[in-house]
Amino acid sequence: LLQLFRPLDLLGFVYRTIRQGLIDMAAMFRLIDAEMEVEDAPGAPALNIARPGIIFENVHFGYDEDRTILHGLDFEIAAGETVALVGPSGAGKSTIARLLFRFYDPAAGRILIDGQDIAQVTQESLRAAIGIVPQDSVLFNDTIGYNIGYGRANAEQDDIREAARGAAILPFIEALPEGFDTQVGERGLKLSGGEKQRVAIARTLLKDPPIVILDEATSALDSRTEQEILATLNRVARGRTTLAIAHRLSTIADADRILVLENGRLAEQGRHAQLLRRDGLYAEMWARQQAERTEDARPA
Ligand code: ATP
Repeated sequence: LLQLFRPLDLLGFVYRTIRQGLIDMAAMFRLIDAEMEVEDAPGAPALNIARPGIIFENVHFGYDEDRTILHGLDFEIAAGETVALVGPSGAGKSTIARLLFRFYDPAAGRILIDGQDIAQVTQESLRAAIGIVPQDSVLFNDTIGYNIGYGRANAEQDDIREAARGAAILPFIEALPEGFDTQVGERGLKLSGGEKQRVAIARTLLKDPPIVILDEATSALDSRTEQEILATLNRVARGRTTLAIAHRLSTIADADRILVLENGRLAEQGRHAQLLRRDGLYAEMWARQQAERTEDARPA
């Protein structure tokens, strides 16, 4: 009987190999698709960062010519500053992150990092300088160690451990019977949203970029997990220039500065307390979210 199962085993192996190949390819094509949009300028130098300040200078952008998404955005993030970006759904928050990573070029205006126009430097050097912690990170069907080590080529086991520690996921990994060799993804251990985000944080700590984009998860985490994730996100932001895209305002009340985006325009900016006093869009969003929280907390 065992003989009979051997070909089936092989089939399973072939299936898994092809499937993994397809997943990797899909991930790759998404990147390549985006990369097709922009090209390196001839003879472009590498981005050279001493102080990683970011400037958006009159940036106009639309995915299609007939629909403008960003209408002349002007803002600055000083080196080492943490700036939160908030605004209603569809306001253009993720679009700003994509432009900073140069998935697209602005239709007009410039984006500068440490005084250099990002359209004039190599994409490779630009992307090496920016770490992204996305809302929902893609995990490869491989070990959890591989998934963290992916942040930096040739990462040593010790570095991977340190990154896991920094992202507060080390105790979780060490409690697994196979530790860092545990398979995750489709055919392995399923990770929760919070755990996946910690893997992404660990990857970013390992990459150690001067600039970080945090894309906060939309889905509500329970408040203890939210607090823990926030603490680790703050650790990633420390000493780096950080742009945090936030959906829940409660998480960014201590940002150095908050930019409020509305229909692709900067409606307001300031610290949490200043914006509440202003009694504009931010104050309105805050009041609405507070009301929703109270609603959620009420027993059914
Ligand atoms: P959310 O809070 O819901 O994530 P957001 O502020 O991040 O929203 P963006 O994702 O930047 O908003 O989208 C801004 C606008 O651009 C939206 O109207 C959206 O429909 C449009 N848009 C986003 N991505 C694309 C795309 N790839 N092609 C065409 N339009 C797009």
